[in-house]
Amino acid sequence: MAVLMDGKKLAEKLCSEVAEAAGKLARRPCLAAVLVGTDPASQIYVRNKERDCQKCGIDSRRYDRDEAVSEAELLSLIADLNADDTVDGILVQLPLPEHICERNVINAIDPDKDVDAFHPINVGKMVTGQAHLLPCTPAGIMEMLREYGISPDGKHCVIVGRSNIVGRPMGMLMLNADATVTYCHRRTRDLAALTRMADILIVAAGCPRLITGDMVRSGAVVIDVAMNRDSETGRFFGDVCFDEVEPKAAFITPVPGGVGPMTRAQLMRNILEASRSRQS
Ligand code: ADP
Repeated sequence: MAVLMDGKKLAEKLCSEVAEAAGKLARRPCLAAVLVGTDPASQIYVRNKERDCQKCGIDSRRYDRDEAVSEAELLSLIADLNADDTVDGILVQLPLPEHICERNVINAIDPDKDVDAFHPINVGKMVTGQAHLLPCTPAGIMEMLREYGISPDGKHCVIVGRSNIVGRPMGMLMLNADATVTYCHRRTRDLAALTRMADILIVAAGCPRLITGDMVRSGAVVIDVAMNRDSETGRFFGDVCFDEVEPKAAFITPVPGGVGPMTRAQLMRNILEASRSRQS
């Protein structure tokens, strides 16, 4: 029987810490959230982030733009937000419509206001261990490991997925924390042979039931990042066959209620951090 890693409870604790620290600043931190189009999932994400801000004593402003907005118009909005001294954090909800280059938009955000930490300057700082804004999902996972007393030092961490948002930066934070890191992805041969070697297995593939019980060594720490939505029931489930893996693992995250809330809490910490350094 594994210990269930309660991301929801820990995230609440982190958010109340953010609220306390935000209350001590001369000016309330402020997030600018940019949402393009009407994608229902994106709307829910942005609304949740606004709610989190409210709980954490952070102001939030919404900038909704039509699906047909041009890249130039969006870049001009980003330039305005960069120049606005009352804005501490800028978040552009992804994905953007196909006619807009996401990279151009991300690269236009002032790195000091880049609370998602997707800008190449922040990625470079993270890789070299000098970041003050960390990517939300990987940093949330590191925090959860700390809370449960799991040190990555010398452990073999196997990561399934190499996206810019989750897998890739996750490996960098693990390496910075002295783990030995293996990346797996769609082109990996014999995934099971590698996942079985993991002391810490982190799965971010967006592939339902990818990790079965026989792919996990007993006593492993298993972190399931995925949020796959069943279109019929509307329920969320992960990439890990929880019923098969839970009896073997030492620690496991539930879906939902594991990594998701930690990602949201880390965003609040980043907004606080961005605001603090801009106010100092
Ligand atoms: P996220 O944003 O959650 O990280 P993405 O969809 O951007 O997810 O990326 C999925 C990642 O998972 C990719 O790096 C891909 O190579 C990897 N992946 C997807 N399916 C498999 C699979 N069956 N086996 C191994 N890796 C996979």
